[in-house]
Amino acid sequence: MNRVIFHVDMNAFFASVEQKSNPLLRGKPILVVADARRRSVVMTSSYEARAFGVATGMNLYEARQFCPEALVVEGDSAKYMAATAKIMEVLETVTDRFEMTSCDEAYLDVTGSLKCFGTDARGLAERVKARIRGVTGLPCSVGVAPNKLLAKLGSDMHKPDGLTVIDSENVEDVMARTPAQDLCGIGRKLKVRLQELGIRTCKELGDADIGKLCHYFGFWAYHLKRMGQGRDDSPVRRPGEEADERSMGHSTTFPEDTSDMDVLRSYLLFLSEKVASRMRKRGLEGRSVSLVIRYKDFTTFSHERRGRAFTDDGFEIYQAALRILRSVELEQPVRLLGVTVSSLVPARWEEFLFEAMGRKKKVNRAADGINRKFGRSTVKPAGQILAERHGLLEPPIPPALAALRVYR
Ligand SMILES: [Mg+2]
Repeated sequence: MNRVIFHVDMNAFFASVEQKSNPLLRGKPILVVADARRRSVVMTSSYEARAFGVATGMNLYEARQFCPEALVVEGDSAKYMAATAKIMEVLETVTDRFEMTSCDEAYLDVTGSLKCFGTDARGLAERVKARIRGVTGLPCSVGVAPNKLLAKLGSDMHKPDGLTVIDSENVEDVMARTPAQDLCGIGRKLKVRLQELGIRTCKELGDADIGKLCHYFGFWAYHLKRMGQGRDDSPVRRPGEEADERSMGHSTTFPEDTSDMDVLRSYLLFLSEKVASRMRKRGLEGRSVSLVIRYKDFTTFSHERRGRAFTDDGFEIYQAALRILRSVELEQPVRLLGVTVSSLVPARWEEFLFEAMGRKKKVNRAADGINRKFGRSTVKPAGQILAERHGLLEPPIPPALAALRVYR
């Protein structure tokens, strides 16, 4: 059955909220930052500022080079949360199948709603836009399509205040003229690789020889080709259903079995950090930590412990895993250890970049950035070194990345 999916994307969300709440800011270039006193980063700028070349992610100094007259506003998470809550109330009246992917973006599956509203997809999208505008005073862009991938592409096409319908009538046209890097999930590095293969548009990606793609991207090639064809089966998840990954874990088999608690602890730290950095990458936090222990004779034992709070911090995960390890009387030398975090939820975005972001989060964020730039384990806890001396094998990495690594 053909689905009808909306992607609703608020335009310059934080800046629009500020302009809405303070008439003096309307029609002016403004920069929303976490803290105006420091060299902080532009979180959002108004369209008036963007016209000067200001972009999200620039620091205040850079942004002012482009637009010296820009007004600087310190972000106010409470205000944005209130606006998000109002938007969600509107979306709830349209369908029970909507998925907030951040504070200012949502997917809606309105396949079953069209009949109730007695309108076609475009008509309903216009109503959604008008209601959001009516309740919050804020503009948004909506993409209408048979799946999430194309709906997202559509909402990006006309900003601000746009409405784009992609359907069987125009999808081929759209894919032929849209650059492949506009597809959600294709980043800068991938774009370069695709260009090296002579692939520029979505259509060229969809038509590409699968053998050639496999050579460069491993099994990821199939996913890429499907994206280029505009295909996507992923469901819009109801609130509470969003646990795409219910758990995330890493395990490692030791080069030689060991009962040495110091070595085991060091491995545990390594595994916990790996899981944590992957969770942060996916924007997830979890509360339950389980430890898998496999003995020399392959008997395997697993125990779970539910933490007090959700976390994406490696050391906190390690502490929980260590408590489990300490509660176990090791019967034999250990062959494998695994750490898994479950009860995953999207990280609490209201803390995003604001004063509520604790020191620990800032340190993790900085370490992630360094490791991304200079390679895995450039920065790591000192406690991991013992595991490395013990002969820690090549750290496990997600298969998709492994494929890219092999074929680079
Ligand atoms: Mg947005």
